[in-house]
Amino acid sequence: MKIPFNRPFTIGAELENIAAAVRDGHLAGDGRFTRQCHQWLERNLGAKKALLTHSCTAALEMAAILCDLRAGDEVIMPSFTFVSTANAFVLRGAVPVFVDIRPDTLNLDEKLVAAGVTSRTRAIVPVHYAGVACEMDALMALARDRELVVVEDAAQGLLAQYKGRRLGAIGHLGCLSFHETKNVISGEGGALLVNDARLAERAEIIREKGTNRAQFFRGEVDKYTWVDIGSSYLPSELVGAFLWAQLEHAGAINDRRMKLCAAYRKGLAALARHGALALPQPEPAGVTGNGHLFYVLLKDAATRARLIAHLKTRGIHSVFHYVPLHSSPAGRRYGRGAGPLPVTEDVAGRLLRLPLYHELTEAQVGIIVAEIHAFFG
Ligand SMILES: *Cc1c(COP(=O)(O)O)cnc(C)c1O
Repeated sequence: MKIPFNRPFTIGAELENIAAAVRDGHLAGDGRFTRQCHQWLERNLGAKKALLTHSCTAALEMAAILCDLRAGDEVIMPSFTFVSTANAFVLRGAVPVFVDIRPDTLNLDEKLVAAGVTSRTRAIVPVHYAGVACEMDALMALARDRELVVVEDAAQGLLAQYKGRRLGAIGHLGCLSFHETKNVISGEGGALLVNDARLAERAEIIREKGTNRAQFFRGEVDKYTWVDIGSSYLPSELVGAFLWAQLEHAGAINDRRMKLCAAYRKGLAALARHGALALPQPEPAGVTGNGHLFYVLLKDAATRARLIAHLKTRGIHSVFHYVPLHSSPAGRRYGRGAGPLPVTEDVAGRLLRLPLYHELTEAQVGIIVAEIHAFFG
């Protein structure tokens, strides 16, 4: 492909940091780079405690353990999301209950959530699609009312804001991704943000194989041992070393992506005016995105398939998003819809994501835009 959909990048001291970690002789997790990442996330996002994990998937699994779910407990989430949002809870024996999304932000429709709550509901998992915030005030108020845990899937939302607060730091727990397709990357990687102080100690234990090893290293206990369930969610220092180099430039990385999104928007405005396609809606008041992804909505699935094929012949890779979870084989087996999901089904059938990565140039955006114009004649 001449223009791939995504291309991982380095921006600063990634390789030097890795060399330094090797020289330090500390390759297991929670060395100096990992600690710097934790501090950066706590300071810049306003989380009580940040813990690096192998992935956002791992952070979601930790969050699901912290929710203390019993078999058959229900967790409300959108169907329009990545599989890990649901999978983490299914692994605990819980049932994902899918609620439809808003047509403007493509996020969980907060007005439909209350109707999906039953006596078995234990948690709500808002997913901030494209780094655009869900309506968190309404969701947090409902959660307070019904004593539910809120786990933000902020995989796409690093540094994005809702009413001056950073995504992932609003719910009881927040999960971030540093997968190579996200804004700030470490190959595979993620973080759990613990915003409810009551969950902090147990989060550390779950992350370290169910041991109180972190407390032992702080001198709070005189030996460490197996105290709870857990697994190995702690990434190697090599991951922390790479990530630290990127976090230092996170603001600039987001700015670059937002600039590219603006270029797409400008280039495709005429096609949107003529109704050939629809562009993402402006962010709601009080919401600031982070340029995580750029999509267009085509007239129907057939038009999307033809446009994907057209772009492919020109060496441009574009991709759809998502197969709705309620219609997937595992989603049908393990979850259920809270009701009909017409917006999810409509959007998933005609949404197309265009290439977006740090080193994409404005000139390349121009080429992609020109090809889309050519497609519509
Ligand atoms: C990328 C993504 C994940 C998974 O992140 P990993 O770090 O790859 O595990 C989960 N949820 C959403 C919404 C995502 O976009």
